[in-house]
Amino acid sequence: MAANGHATTPGAGWAAPKYEVQVKSERFKFNAAHFVAFPGYRERLHGHNYTCSVRVFGPLSEHDGYVLDFGDVKKATRRVCEQLNERFLCPCLADALAITRNKKNVEIVCEDASFFSMPEADCAMLPLKHSTAEELAALVWRRVIDELGVEKLVKRGITALEVSVAEAPSQEARYTRPLAGYDPREEVPVSLPSPGACCSQFAVPCRPPAAP
Ligand SMILES: [Zn+2]
Repeated sequence: MAANGHATTPGAGWAAPKYEVQVKSERFKFNAAHFVAFPGYRERLHGHNYTCSVRVFGPLSEHDGYVLDFGDVKKATRRVCEQLNERFLCPCLADALAITRNKKNVEIVCEDASFFSMPEADCAMLPLKHSTAEELAALVWRRVIDELGVEKLVKRGITALEVSVAEAPSQEARYTRPLAGYDPREEVPVSLPSPGACCSQFAVPCRPPAAP
């Protein structure tokens, strides 16, 4: 509703027609385990059957009549979902977790001294502070853009992308961002310290004490 009380007309204020495409697929999904943790709080370990969708905003190409080929978006999004499927979503930048690599395992100590150890191959090591649907949507956004190629998208005049990540049909987060100013180097590779290197982070040690 507009401020004057009249219903807002879709498109009011637009200078030209707008196009956008939305791509949904039964294959845009990943089943994964996670828990959200922040200072003073930690969820119990649990899982979701996550689903995604992607919206692309941009002009219609006079050459091929597309905003962007649905097939390209499908391929890119499926690849990103595969990277997360059947894994523990590990938020490597968490400030409420001490996360270290010990041989082939990822070890996590929480503020409450809970200890997890999981094979690294079973984890998706993500440059996130929290594995919330919101932060996952931002991660999927970056990775879909990188799969599609930001230069190619800019050349086509694509202006923005929106990614939604749903934990359940009733719980969905959306991340919408213009392409202008996006730098593919934004996602830095994750490197974890060895056990002991992060002991100063918490009052508890990185590894549980050995059994007497
Ligand atoms: Zn959850």
